[in-house]
Amino acid sequence: TSSDRLLIGSNLKMYKTIAETVDYLSRLVSVTSDLPRESIDIFIIPSFTALPAASMLKSDRLKLGAQNMNWADSGQYTGEISPVMLRELGIDVVEIGHSERRHVFGETDDETNRKVIAAVNHGFTALLCIGETASDKNLGISEERIRIQLKIGLHDFPKEKLSRLWIAYEPVWAIGVNGTPAAPDYVEEAHARIRSTLEELFPGEADHIPILYGGSVNKQNCCELIALPGVDGLFIGRAAWNADDMNTIIRMT
Ligand code: PEP
Repeated sequence: TSSDRLLIGSNLKMYKTIAETVDYLSRLVSVTSDLPRESIDIFIIPSFTALPAASMLKSDRLKLGAQNMNWADSGQYTGEISPVMLRELGIDVVEIGHSERRHVFGETDDETNRKVIAAVNHGFTALLCIGETASDKNLGISEERIRIQLKIGLHDFPKEKLSRLWIAYEPVWAIGVNGTPAAPDYVEEAHARIRSTLEELFPGEADHIPILYGGSVNKQNCCELIALPGVDGLFIGRAAWNADDMNTIIRMT
């Protein structure tokens, strides 16, 4: 792994209300309070509406993120939320290009690029999600897809902000209720390819960019996945939406 610290986080998608998010985070803070701060970073990404309440529970132990963000500071973008607005909430991370943003809402690589750059320029950590679809995999273009997502998504990325970049590799076919987790050797190979593309983009400076794996991570497979060379963290959906389950996974890794 590129760092001594594991990153373990969850995207709550559109599943928890304000009250449910507060319950979840309060429980998570209490059950994880004894974990050593130095070895593990926990981050949770709730819905926008829950962020003000959630930010009260933010701590050294627990980082908070937003699930999306517009690239502009302000403007004629009805329904969007700007980096300046997110700054008011004191969150740390902005998730960009999740597969549902790309494949349900048609977000393009060019848009992820603008968002990534705006996020780091406003002091957030940008969590860029990449991953091939089932169709890419069947066509044999998974490698190409990931390279394109990285090379466009990180075009003109300011090198001095590399410490604020995290990558999540989430093969689309492995995500959600219809997904199956990718086999460990597949994940290991994909992470190595991602690392070498990052190395190509940022020669000599890509070592410390964390690459997380996501897609049907659960209590059964988390240990094997986190132990893989090149896997610096886990990005978890369903299996983490109960605070006690999340705590179990964190302690197993
Ligand atoms: C995700 O959507 O990012 C994800 C990893 O979901 P799940 O763990 O539920 O497959």
